[in-house]
Amino acid sequence: MSHVYDMSKENNAQWTIERANQVYGINHWGNNYFDIDSQGNVRVKDPSNNEPSAVSLMQIIEGLSDRDLNMPVLLRIENILDQSICKLNETFTQAIEKVGYQNKYQGVYPIKVNQQAQIVEEIAQFGARYQHGFEVGSKAEMIAALSTMEALDSLIICNGYKDQEFVELGLQATKLGFKCIFVIETLTELPIIVERSQALDICPRIGVRAKMTTQISGHWSATSGERSVFGLSSSQLIHVVDYLKEHQMLDCLELLHCHLGSQIPNIHDIRGGVLEACRYYSDLCKEGAALNYIDLGGGLAVDYTGKQSNTEQSRNYSLAEYCEDIVDTIKSTLDTQSLPHPIIVTESGRATVAYTSILLFNILDVVTFEPKDLPEAKENEHQLLKNMREIMSYLKPQRLQECFNDVQFYRDEVRELFKRGQIDLRMRSVSETLYFNVLHRIKDILAEMERVPEELTGLTESLADIYYGNFSLFQSLPDSWAIDQIFPIMPIHRLNEKPTRRAILADITCDCDGKIEQFVVDQQIEKTLPLHVTNQAEEYYLGVFLVGAYQETLGDLHNLFGDTNVVSVRLSADASFEFVKEVHGDTIEDVLSYVEYQPHEMKTRFRNKVEAAVCDGRISARERQQIIKTFSASMQGYTYYEKE
Ligand SMILES: *Cc1c(COP(=O)(O)O)cnc(C)c1O
Repeated sequence: MSHVYDMSKENNAQWTIERANQVYGINHWGNNYFDIDSQGNVRVKDPSNNEPSAVSLMQIIEGLSDRDLNMPVLLRIENILDQSICKLNETFTQAIEKVGYQNKYQGVYPIKVNQQAQIVEEIAQFGARYQHGFEVGSKAEMIAALSTMEALDSLIICNGYKDQEFVELGLQATKLGFKCIFVIETLTELPIIVERSQALDICPRIGVRAKMTTQISGHWSATSGERSVFGLSSSQLIHVVDYLKEHQMLDCLELLHCHLGSQIPNIHDIRGGVLEACRYYSDLCKEGAALNYIDLGGGLAVDYTGKQSNTEQSRNYSLAEYCEDIVDTIKSTLDTQSLPHPIIVTESGRATVAYTSILLFNILDVVTFEPKDLPEAKENEHQLLKNMREIMSYLKPQRLQECFNDVQFYRDEVRELFKRGQIDLRMRSVSETLYFNVLHRIKDILAEMERVPEELTGLTESLADIYYGNFSLFQSLPDSWAIDQIFPIMPIHRLNEKPTRRAILADITCDCDGKIEQFVVDQQIEKTLPLHVTNQAEEYYLGVFLVGAYQETLGDLHNLFGDTNVVSVRLSADASFEFVKEVHGDTIEDVLSYVEYQPHEMKTRFRNKVEAAVCDGRISARERQQIIKTFSASMQGYTYYEKE
């Protein structure tokens, strides 16, 4: 039996802000950064203040329209990014003190999770006080790291496949004083590093990436274990040791890298992975490597659903438990070998940047599937339509399934006869109205029943509204489409009003995949989201939260919807805020040029066509001006729906 949250059972008077909190789960997934104020608006908070100052997202939206920044907008809250880095570092430090660990924590941010300059610069700047560095997986990311990093003491961990140019870049950086560590991922890069460093006479810092065999549950479970495409097997590790020893460079081997996986929901898996990493660590030490860093990679999960459980898009641990488990496992394992404690490195990406970004958009249109008044029966109505009307007379709780099957059957028959030309469009339309009337009657009866028959569980959802949002799923929420990622979605205002509709969301691409049908409602995964009735007087805004990781650059130009406007906001202690950065989204001209059109040429060609129309006398010279003006203005315009 499926649980379908039924709004109709609750009357308006029972609706409270507290109820809104439960329905949308903001306290569960919000990590203390978001809440709802007494006016029913979602607020964002800076938890670094003792008396958290809060700003409502509607206030920010007002500021956006003053700046002519239309929806959709990707909003970044800088304080949240700062806070994530701060919390990660301080929580590790607390765990280290608590456990009595004899070394420190030094994190790095994996640039691939969000490569946008603003994000990387902010992390470099705020991370400097913790010597929080970068993990890079390509030459481009390396260059981004080298040019933004402020503290030379921070680490640059170089993963990925490294060619000669990559290696030379890293060696030069080492000479400059950067703590740049080459993590050997494949045996082919080993001779390049050895040869280049000897040629340039620079002593490299080397790491090895071990293949982890601990099976991790969660979405990326297939990438962990024996079949992982990353890392070196035991015999390859031994080869690295022997090769370095042969070249008198074993003392350059400073770091062991073990990426456990991404978004690991279960703390037991993390403990298991760390244990395996420690075994590699201690045996490499015995082999004579001068290891001093243990890098556990990413994996710290984000609780997207707010369920606080070991389910895929959640996690069953707090940040404090994560840190303590890691520190404690390393300490107790290495103590038995009497090995000194290494510097602990992690590469948290998702958990560092997810919370900082929110996608805001307005609702453009709503389609409902409400029952209409039954049309009067004609005298010689078609038998199929008569049969459909009949159903109403025997529709009762004991015969729901039968009625459902009947109405389905007759509707399909009508469609069939329509195709063969035996029923006309008007009759088909009557049958559709009858169909929806029956379904709504069934739905009403189901709402009163304790147990919903298996086959009718999807019925209520099939009658849900469709709310059309001004955004492109493919551009702004690619993981929602590609891997069924769930993001918290909710109205950002009117939360003091009871939402009386249930809806799925559709975007404005004309792609049938451009929709969202998975939401967390009342701690359950549901196919529909409770929403308010929209009205002409006021825009209706929704927010998609926790979109800072991966969504910004994985997005594509489907239907030629481009980058959205991006705005960064900083909250101040006195509950005010300022716009620190704004980047206008792509214009139509921009996206056309991305797919190799030449906007200038397009304008000329279009102008020629208009010119020809003037010559032929199809339009006047005055009309010509108007047409060209409209065309040029469109080229400069935003790719999304713009209201006048
Ligand atoms: C992707 C990746 C990360 C980031 O993982 P999260 O789960 O986002 O923290 C860290 N390290 C490596 C090597 C990665 O490939």
